[in-house]
Amino acid sequence: MTITLEGKRGLIMGVANDRSIAWGIASAMHAAGAELAFSYQGEQLERRVRPLAEGIGSDFLVEADVTNDEMMDACFAQVKERWGTMDFVVHAIAFSDKTELTGRFTNTSRANFTNSLNISCYSFIDVARRAAELMPDGGCALTLTYQGSQRVIPYYNVMGVAKAALEASTRYLANDLGPQGIRVNAISPGPMKTLAGAAIGGARKTFKHTAENAPLRSNATLEAVGGTAVWLASDAGAYTSGEVVHVDGGYHIIGMPKPETL
Ligand code: NAP
Repeated sequence: MTITLEGKRGLIMGVANDRSIAWGIASAMHAAGAELAFSYQGEQLERRVRPLAEGIGSDFLVEADVTNDEMMDACFAQVKERWGTMDFVVHAIAFSDKTELTGRFTNTSRANFTNSLNISCYSFIDVARRAAELMPDGGCALTLTYQGSQRVIPYYNVMGVAKAALEASTRYLANDLGPQGIRVNAISPGPMKTLAGAAIGGARKTFKHTAENAPLRSNATLEAVGGTAVWLASDAGAYTSGEVVHVDGGYHIIGMPKPETL
């Protein structure tokens, strides 16, 4: 079977710049033949996203802050107006106040807990429901997670809880939307050098540690994450749903670093 996205259309949410995971996925999906729309948050991001989108032949950009219901209504209304239906949606969005991505998890504030879970988890439920209404013939919803959901990663703190909730939401959404032929999956890359990644305390050391100790002795590339997204959104991924697919050089299986590095 040739893995292709020819004839498929989808919305990419979460491109901030050309190092964003969403951009790695968009590039790979474009190369596989998909037609893409992009959502961005605010004018400043539009200035960065528009040239990237145009570079791969897309003039379809919509503004959407995922915490704003009116904007979300307008975003999916524009997709419906222009395309009628869609085949996939990629949710690559997360946020926590940077001051709580360092220090002790115990000090997580109510305000940042609520905001982080709202933007990083609830938004995927909202996006999946809205996208599903435009997928009468089935489709695929993808989100991005991190293994700080399952194990303690220094300073990942409230984002670990948000990603655990996001992974559980992936399973519940997969079960709800499966009868409609919609598959829901999460991709779990290792640490990547992005704006969001840099906000986490000790990011450089985490990046170096996982690259040195992962079975493949490397962190994932944007191309590898993009390739996984293409597989999951394509007909080759037709029977994979409710899954968390690791694209982390195998780091998540490791119980202890190599003794010689200690
Ligand atoms: P990124 O380039 O900074 O992308 C994060 C995106 O989320 C940005 O476009 C950001 O827009 C957007 N966003 C935040 N709040 C939003 C809101 N209220 N409404 C709409 N968009 C909002 O970082 P990234 O690393 O590629 O992150 C993408 C996803 O991958 C996230 O879910 C992240 O947790 C996940 N992930 C990252 C890593 C890593 O190490 N980098 C590893 C595993 C998983 P603004 O810039 O305007 O805030």
